[in-house]
Amino acid sequence: MNSEPRQAINNVVIVGGGSAGWLLAGLIASEHIDDEHRHVSVTLVESPDVRTIGVGEGTWPTMRTTLQKIGIPESDFLLRCSASFKQGTKFVGWSSGDDAETYYHPFTAPAGYTDINLVPYWQKHRDAVSFANAVSTQGYVCDKGLAPKQKETPEYAYVVNYGYHLDAGKFAELLQERCTTLLGVRHLVDHVTRVNGDLDGDIRSVSTAKNGDIEGDLFVDCTGFASLLLGKHYQVPYIDKRDILFNDSALAIQVPYADDSDPIASQTISTARSAGWIWDIGLTSRRGIGYTYSSKYSTDEDAQETLRRYIEATSGTATGSVEPRKIRFQPGHRGKFWHRNCVAVGMAAGFLEPLEASALVLVELAGKMISEELPANRNVMDIVAKRYNELFLYRWDRIIDFLKLHYVLSKRTDSAYWIDNRGDESVPQSLRELLALWQYQPPEHRDLAHVDEVFSAASYQYVLYGMGFETHARDSARQSRDAIKAQKLFEDNTKMASRLVANLPGNRKLLDMIGGTGTQ
Ligand SMILES: Cc1cc2nc3c(=O)[nH]c(=O)nc-3n(C[C@H](O)[C@H](O)[C@H](O)COP(=O)(O)OP(=O)(O)OC[C@H]3O[C@@H](n4cnc5c(N)ncnc54)[C@H](O)[C@@H]3O)c2cc1C
Repeated sequence: MNSEPRQAINNVVIVGGGSAGWLLAGLIASEHIDDEHRHVSVTLVESPDVRTIGVGEGTWPTMRTTLQKIGIPESDFLLRCSASFKQGTKFVGWSSGDDAETYYHPFTAPAGYTDINLVPYWQKHRDAVSFANAVSTQGYVCDKGLAPKQKETPEYAYVVNYGYHLDAGKFAELLQERCTTLLGVRHLVDHVTRVNGDLDGDIRSVSTAKNGDIEGDLFVDCTGFASLLLGKHYQVPYIDKRDILFNDSALAIQVPYADDSDPIASQTISTARSAGWIWDIGLTSRRGIGYTYSSKYSTDEDAQETLRRYIEATSGTATGSVEPRKIRFQPGHRGKFWHRNCVAVGMAAGFLEPLEASALVLVELAGKMISEELPANRNVMDIVAKRYNELFLYRWDRIIDFLKLHYVLSKRTDSAYWIDNRGDESVPQSLRELLALWQYQPPEHRDLAHVDEVFSAASYQYVLYGMGFETHARDSARQSRDAIKAQKLFEDNTKMASRLVANLPGNRKLLDMIGGTGTQ
């Protein structure tokens, strides 16, 4: 065994300055800034000619930890990024196609989640109360347009769990400022024209139009759909998942509030339509709305008409002359993400439709692992790369299963899109097995292999039972023993919901107050 340490990995070059590039720069730089034994330098180069995707507007609660780690005060973030609080997603019209039918996938875990599975007890009363309202207060809070915390709640702390809605362009600017002024990240605005390999196949440097060659020990490919390093240079194949997740197109538009005092929804609203679904995200400055659909099942003109009708119905304003931005994507991911001394993160690694906003959370998870396990030298890099690839391939597969779940459970028959989405051949075997099992037992932690699953059994429960799925579980002795505990959890949840609804401020009201004086 060769134990001679080879080249130390101290010089990280990130290519791309979208949300992925700047998050990675912030996470790697903040992890290593105080490292006395190792000087890690981070250089980020971004093209002045290739615009960022700038759509990703919904985050998970994980973003609170990420921002704290990078050292950004929450009120700065909220103000600078026109950001608002997101408490989960409200799904409209997904089950039968009737817009009056809605359900929540909130960020709060079901009451007693680590101790007791409330599904069998709730099922006995399922006609009286939705699953989300029986086990969580968050649907009540969102229905009233309330914030997830009080003015006095400290920064990043919560009364009910939350992530954010944000303006991605402003977010990248804020991260850039923090990274370059306080975390020592070197920033070059330049177009990468060539990737230069050395004799053993590693990347030695990238050539730029104005700044010559930039050398590095580890290259992070954050070049978005271009995937300049992993895709174009290394030719790592792309695994197309269009046979499972049909959506490959999006129309995105920004819609102003009719009035500055209009409420700001504290959840993403996801409304199903005949060939896809519409996202509706309330920022402090505007709403970000878009239709993601399958080009196989809808023309762009029909999609545009669908979006126009939604905007008219929900805001009373016409889209007017503003053309939505059209984005085509290939749902899928690279066959591996870390090859030799190059790791791809963000859209350069892959992209699936934005249902459940899983893209930025994957960037955060990638940034966490790369920064915390930054290989000490070239010898151990391949070991870290192997572990990284195994973990992230697993994660992409689980995300695909979870997104597909929303379509498989639908009973819509109004278009071939929905009917075909339930076709056996389009459903991954892993998901089919879980659905077969869950007919007889509700989702449990043990059904999913990892402790840090991207989507936990709680998320599966919210979507399954929100969509009307039935589990025919046998009554067990344990169930009878825990019946009183379950009843108490349901009652406590109802009482807590009333207290929160009476005491939490309106979402816009709190955001306005923070705009005035900041949080504690
Ligand atoms: C319709 C849509 C909706 C979305 N909604 C969500 C959501 O709600 N939640 C969520 O988490 N995510 C969402 N996403 C995904 C999210 O926007 C992205 O994952 C995120 O913005 C990261 O993008 P990126 O940084 O990988 O790529 P990009 O933003 O495309 O950045 C690419 C960067 O690479 C640079 N570059 C390219 N070529 C070169 C070159 N030759 N030289 C130098 N630099 C180069 C560009 O200049 C740019 O800086 C959505 C995406 C889409 C398409």
